Amino acid sequence: MKYYSTNGKAPVADLQKAVVKGLAEDRGLYMPDHINKLPKAFFADMPKMRFQDIAFNVAASFFGDDIDLDGLQDLVYDTLRFDCPVVKVKENIYALELFHGPTLAFKDVGARFMARMLQYFLRSGSVCCRDTATGKTVNVLVATSGDTGSAVANGFLGVEGIHVYVLYPKGKVSPIQECQFTTLGQNITAIEVDGVFDDCQALVKNAFMDEELNRHMMLTSANSINVARFLPQAFYYFNAVARLASQSLNSDIVVCVPSGNFGNICSALFGHEMGLPVKRFIAANNANDVFYNYLQTGQYEPKPSKQTLANAMDVGDPSNFARIINLYSENGKLSSEETHQRITSLISGATYSDDQIRETMRQCYAETGYILDPHGACGYRALEEQLQPGEVGVFCETAHPAKFKEKVDEILGIDVEIPERLQAFMKGTKQSVPMSKDFADFKAYLLSC
Ligand SMILES: *Cc1c(COP(=O)(O)O)cnc(C)c1O
Repeated sequence: MKYYSTNGKAPVADLQKAVVKGLAEDRGLYMPDHINKLPKAFFADMPKMRFQDIAFNVAASFFGDDIDLDGLQDLVYDTLRFDCPVVKVKENIYALELFHGPTLAFKDVGARFMARMLQYFLRSGSVCCRDTATGKTVNVLVATSGDTGSAVANGFLGVEGIHVYVLYPKGKVSPIQECQFTTLGQNITAIEVDGVFDDCQALVKNAFMDEELNRHMMLTSANSINVARFLPQAFYYFNAVARLASQSLNSDIVVCVPSGNFGNICSALFGHEMGLPVKRFIAANNANDVFYNYLQTGQYEPKPSKQTLANAMDVGDPSNFARIINLYSENGKLSSEETHQRITSLISGATYSDDQIRETMRQCYAETGYILDPHGACGYRALEEQLQPGEVGVFCETAHPAKFKEKVDEILGIDVEIPERLQAFMKGTKQSVPMSKDFADFKAYLLSC
């Protein structure tokens, strides 16, 4: 499979280059040059298949030319050592719980999959890093405001040949999140930056652009624009359809995805292109409403992000928007009007204020007993408002409510139980490297590593 850039000004890449580079030379996002439809027989068998085996078939369709099938099966099975159940919340509304991974975040799947894919390329002896100065280690830099850092750190933990540096803003991530990437040790280094999230991101960006540093060490990023991180999320949607079908719910399925950078919903749309029987999609947003506005007007106007209760979705310029446009314009062949028309016929939007999020969490809890987190609440409400008679709705519950315990407890007046897996992190010893927000300091540190 070849990967082209959404900006159309970079050479096509093979999978390895797309994964190691992340972003194309022209700053565009990599897109697979074709999307295979899966055979009817596969969809017929899906309800009887396990999550892992469904995922292997999906993965083979994207990565089967570039990774031998035994290696790929290994990679998929190692990534998916947990379940992703579909839970009935009320009549016709189901929660697709994406939070049963190691850090209770849906990002666990993409992070682990990417780590194992990099390792596969390293072991096959072909990774581009072999000709750099240090030669042996791939260094992953990731800036985080919380969730991404923990998923990436845990996904890469113990993966030989790769070292991860997680940069996070001092005092600005929740204690639970901080424990998830500062207590691991091994090949994970947490860097506590005296600044805000944007400072962390600037340090990472500067590092990628610094020639001396890039000569010294092989640097790569693990953010959600990476094809190895976003595509595997499609596994979730095939599994959802399979689990619904095994309960004889197989027509007029509506999938609703609480969205920030739009990587998760983008993977679902790729699944749809592969033939996944979903009637339509809803992108649920918090108060950050640029995609919602695009659907209404056809104009895309990025804005600075607003802080909300559902903070993993506080994105004012979603990076995967470019992929969605590229997909439905057939790589720029269709006009922007035609593209907009195709998108709005398949995807609708929703945007909710913090007050509406709180109200939804309370109503759902009172009516059904189901505990929504602030992100899932956007998805649940969009289905409640937009589901038509005869449709079956499934929304992603993207985070375990215990990850946002302080907020959920306060809003619902309950004491959310913290799962053992989270508690285990909280018992570890915090280790981090203090860092100023000055790039010279960060560079000196990396050069000394
Ligand atoms: C990352 C995240 C999202 C947003 O996902 P995107 O792929 O960026 O759209 C939603 N909810 C939670 C809990 C997240 O961590």
